[in-house]
Amino acid sequence: VFERVNPANRNEIIGTAPNSTAQDVNDAVAAAEHAFKTWRELSWVKRAEIIDNFAQLIKRDVEEIAVLVTRECGKPINEGRADAVEALHMAQYIAGLGRLPHGYAVSSEISAKDAYILRKPKGVVACITPWNFPSAIPLWLVLPAVLAGNTVVFKPAEQTPICGHKLMELFHEAGFPAGVINLVHGFGEPVGDPLVKHKAVDAVLFTGSRAVGKYIQQVAANDLFKFAATEMGGKNATIVLEDADIELAINACVLGAFKTSGQRCVSTSRIIIDKKIEAEFTARYVEKVKRIRVGDGLNPDVFMGPLIEAGAIDKWQHHNAKAKEEGAQVLVDGQVLTEGEHANGNFVSPFVYRFDGYKKNTFCLREEAFSPHVAIIPIDGLEEAVEVYNDTDYGLAMAVITEDYRKWRYVRDHADYGLGYVNL
Ligand code: NAD
Repeated sequence: VFERVNPANRNEIIGTAPNSTAQDVNDAVAAAEHAFKTWRELSWVKRAEIIDNFAQLIKRDVEEIAVLVTRECGKPINEGRADAVEALHMAQYIAGLGRLPHGYAVSSEISAKDAYILRKPKGVVACITPWNFPSAIPLWLVLPAVLAGNTVVFKPAEQTPICGHKLMELFHEAGFPAGVINLVHGFGEPVGDPLVKHKAVDAVLFTGSRAVGKYIQQVAANDLFKFAATEMGGKNATIVLEDADIELAINACVLGAFKTSGQRCVSTSRIIIDKKIEAEFTARYVEKVKRIRVGDGLNPDVFMGPLIEAGAIDKWQHHNAKAKEEGAQVLVDGQVLTEGEHANGNFVSPFVYRFDGYKKNTFCLREEAFSPHVAIIPIDGLEEAVEVYNDTDYGLAMAVITEDYRKWRYVRDHADYGLGYVNL
């Protein structure tokens, strides 16, 4: 077994989880294979009804889940609630999908020939999830899979096993038959890897880091029939254009960079801002960042909780050191906080830096830090903003702050991103 402690208070043990083995993976996959035979025979509506039961249980326990999320992964309680509510909305949405068409007719060249596209289950689906949205993200993967008639082996992140366990208790209470959703616990190599490679696993749904996602894609590519869908990290940016509402831009960049202590796939880690307004923005931004209250997320006055574990502090320090080495001007020098209320947690304060002009091939401007670490990059106009935005291998989320419809339209069409925001 392994213990999970509260990242805001390492003296508090949240729970103990089994270190599952390759044999546990075999047993879980065998149970899922067995259950698939009968689960796939149920109607979509019947399966959706069980998901609806589950949604109602999430609604009943939303506050308990919110507190558990905060205790286990450290995010402030308003964010714990947001995660629990997102879990509820996901469950409601998937239950609703069970009533909608799951296929469509395709035009046929012969009047007596019917052609259509129909969704069918693939079989056993592995769902492997990260720690940072421990109740919502597992449901993005597990619920669509089981609605369509697949059965699942779910492996939550090793940092949030107790949140995974809570979901499992509710799946059971909701009435999913034995074997439809199975849980294994533990770390990537001993349990995630044999799960991904298992011959009877037909599809892998993964959300997590780029390194692991890329590895999973390669494993799937070696198997003729295995399918993998991988959602990974980002080096996201907020683009602030010359005509932006500065107050809105400052708040957007504080929230974007430091909510969940910068540990979101969509966290802002680059602020790409027009030179004409950069001085005013930077002065006011730095002043606001310095006022961020760091502490235990159960305290409603806290804005930024701890990092998830000691290794995340090391990674944050590495990225900060690289920024200094690469010539950044440090505006807010983040510190590891170890005194008073911070003595027993993984607390750090924000790190903010700037460059005078854009520097290509710079590690700190291209690689995901997944921590409170943000760069201010002054640029000259709309086109350069988009060029700089695109100069990374993985832009996942983009936000643009502008009052001008034509400019955000240009960004929409020329920046390469997966998820875009305007004035948010
Ligand atoms: P991670 O990749 O370290 O771990 C994710 C999961 O993969 C965990 O359950 C882990 O145990 C498992 N895993 C690790 N090695 C494995 C292996 N060899 N085989 C199979 N499974 C393995 O990610 P994390 O630290 O938990 O989460 C942070 C990362 O997730 C960040 O990069 C973040 O951007 C990304 N993320 C992406 C999204 C999105 O929707 N795109 C959402 C949240 C987080």
